[in-house]
Amino acid sequence: MTVFTSKTLYTPFQTIHDGAIEVEDGRIVRVGSRDGLPKPSNRAVTSFPDCVFVPGFFDVHIHGGAGYDVMRASGSELESMEVFLLRQGVTSYFPTTVTAGLDDTLSALERLANAIENPPRNQKRARPLGIHLEGPFLSYRKRGVHPPENLVPPSIAIFDKLWQASRGQVRMMTIAPELECAEEVIAEAAKRGVCVSIGHSDADLNQARRGIKAGARHATHTFNAMRALDHRDPGILGEVLTNREVTADVIADGIHVDPRVVDLVYRAKGAENFVLITDAISATGMPEGRYRLGPVEVEVNNGRCMYGGNLAGSVLTMDRAVRNAMKFAGLTLQQAVQAASTNPARVAGMRSKGILEAGADADFVVLAPDGEVRATIIAGELAQ
Ligand SMILES: [Zn+2]
Repeated sequence: MTVFTSKTLYTPFQTIHDGAIEVEDGRIVRVGSRDGLPKPSNRAVTSFPDCVFVPGFFDVHIHGGAGYDVMRASGSELESMEVFLLRQGVTSYFPTTVTAGLDDTLSALERLANAIENPPRNQKRARPLGIHLEGPFLSYRKRGVHPPENLVPPSIAIFDKLWQASRGQVRMMTIAPELECAEEVIAEAAKRGVCVSIGHSDADLNQARRGIKAGARHATHTFNAMRALDHRDPGILGEVLTNREVTADVIADGIHVDPRVVDLVYRAKGAENFVLITDAISATGMPEGRYRLGPVEVEVNNGRCMYGGNLAGSVLTMDRAVRNAMKFAGLTLQQAVQAASTNPARVAGMRSKGILEAGADADFVVLAPDGEVRATIIAGELAQ
């Protein structure tokens, strides 16, 4: 049994002063205030007297980092990226594909499934818990940097091929609901437990509604690669922003959407349905220059990732997204943390993540009061 203590702890729904978390075998045994817990006898106590404990961050949309791209990375390269992610407080993530040739996608899915199923020995790293398929069922008009020649009309046959290659590890899929047969694929994916997310889409209001009716329940990088909001033709954004059954994520780097739009999305979705993602690429944590994003080479300059005149992912880290959400939209640290941990864990359908309570996995972040990461605890192990 190990005990970690802090000045404050956000479960995140409750605030506990003089917080303590008891950990055993990678799980949380008890959470409470230090005074309320039995005195430590033979238990190791690690104290962070000035800090805040919050649930580990969960990034459901990330393409790479530390120089590695998830479409190509070997097991040991992925591991290096995961060590890097842990330093930003990310304890769980969904490696996210980009649209590429079918063979490249299938081999990437096999490799990622291997990484999920046969974890390396090193425990001090973020864990890949499932795969996010971003493409190939995307709108040609709203494809962003996804190569047009590799976009494919939705079909259950292709979806099943991708599913088989991933050995059922696809947990999230971004799809344009207006495409022919999209509803069938959405329904099938939802039936297999995939969180279907609408995005890279030119859908009008009714097409977006039909996608949600078919089983979609999330929206990918709200406002980016979506039909613009118009007061007489509200389109997909009208539905995403007003439907209370739909969760939505946003890239809060100050580049993909204006800070004021982060505020707008937060107000529309509320504390429960607002999710922070990074959409980070291999260039994250690296000097500026040229980096891979799946099949394309991206130019990184002044914090912007560009390809062919379009934004191509970000170099955002999750701890910065948390601080930006506070700065851009006036969230409290507690609310911003919920958007980076609890809400994405719920979107991912992972009940033992994103919350500090007895029985949950012992994944949490040690933050300074200003939101800087001091340390991360993953499966009960301290990593600094
Ligand atoms: Zn992306």
